[in-house]
Amino acid sequence: MATISKETVRDALKAVMAPDGGTDIVSAGIVSEIVIAGENVMFALNIDPNNAKAFEPVRAAAQQAAEGIEGVGKVMAALTAEKKPTPGANGNAAPTASPSPAQAPGGAKNAGVPGVDRIIAVASGKGGVGKSTTAVNLALGLASLGLKVGVLDADIYGPSLPRLFGLTGQPQPVSPGSRMLEPMQAYGLKIMSIGFMVEEDTPVIWRGPMVMSALQQMLSEIAWAELDVLVVDMPPGTGDAQLTMAQQTPLAGAVIVSTPQDLALIDARKGLNMFRRVDVPVLGIVENMSYFVCSKCGERHEIFGHGGAENEALKMGVNFLGAVPLDVEIRQRSDAGQPIVASAPDSEHAGIYREIASKVWGGLQAEGPTQRAAPTIIME
Ligand code: ADP
Repeated sequence: MATISKETVRDALKAVMAPDGGTDIVSAGIVSEIVIAGENVMFALNIDPNNAKAFEPVRAAAQQAAEGIEGVGKVMAALTAEKKPTPGANGNAAPTASPSPAQAPGGAKNAGVPGVDRIIAVASGKGGVGKSTTAVNLALGLASLGLKVGVLDADIYGPSLPRLFGLTGQPQPVSPGSRMLEPMQAYGLKIMSIGFMVEEDTPVIWRGPMVMSALQQMLSEIAWAELDVLVVDMPPGTGDAQLTMAQQTPLAGAVIVSTPQDLALIDARKGLNMFRRVDVPVLGIVENMSYFVCSKCGERHEIFGHGGAENEALKMGVNFLGAVPLDVEIRQRSDAGQPIVASAPDSEHAGIYREIASKVWGGLQAEGPTQRAAPTIIME
């Protein structure tokens, strides 16, 4: 199989004209970096969000042009507003430190994903705290409440849902030739991950706009409907990419995962502030790897002291959703693609996750039924 080069893709895109008809999109300088991962191709068209409608056919044509290249599998092409590093430049969709001015008063249903009632983010101030493990088991806990649940892995730095659910392969079109893809399925959940498009160990360099366009495409071109809750596993941290995601995704709420160490709690506070800045309700904090239960003696060891996260949550004015122990079974089952809530539903740990899930659901009820309006979604 011939390897695909960025040049080949760029050449193919030269056949696609910008809406004014005068220049092609490559010469117009609006094609982002082109990312090639195996046989899959990803790129974005950086445009003024005001022109999003006019550019949709161009985006579709660009996608088609790339799909027509021999050896190319899936193509993710998306419209994005290039993030300007300097505030105020052109007034484009740069993330800002303050909520956007009055959007859709009363939480009107002008934004969001059709057929998806609520989108929630699972986030952490830093990597390796068990965010993905929590997202997966929280989603299963929500499903055990009788809800229809999906999970979207937006952790571009380390997509882990394929592994956590033991899934391989790629989502298929809902019908031949359709742009819409069926989500993957496991344990009754609908699942999509950037990891189905990019191999877990393929290094991909993501630039800001690409991150958002990949997420937008996974929200708008996956047949999610009907879902009560879509759980989004966010990339760890509180940088620009995360802020943009938090701001531009129509989130009904966020759950923050932290370990009990002080340092991690400082990170958790950063996560909390990030969501508050963009006006997303924080549903609460989960303390992961909270205590250690010795598998030999059954004794509970509170390595990091007890109640730290709960007290901190109180101080920060946010709900404490629960404490999950550091337990080898959680890790082993995760690594085997059999998350504990699904594979050992009667275990104590599964019970803890279900309790967290019901608190999250309760919090969502309190926030009301509609998704928060997204300020600057520019995809169709
Ligand atoms: P993140 O998404 O924050 O990077 P992961 O969910 O991938 O973190 O977890 C990192 C590692 O820690 C994984 O190997 C996972 O199985 C393990 N892990 C997560 N939570 C627990 C837990 N409560 N007990 C034991 N291992 C855990």
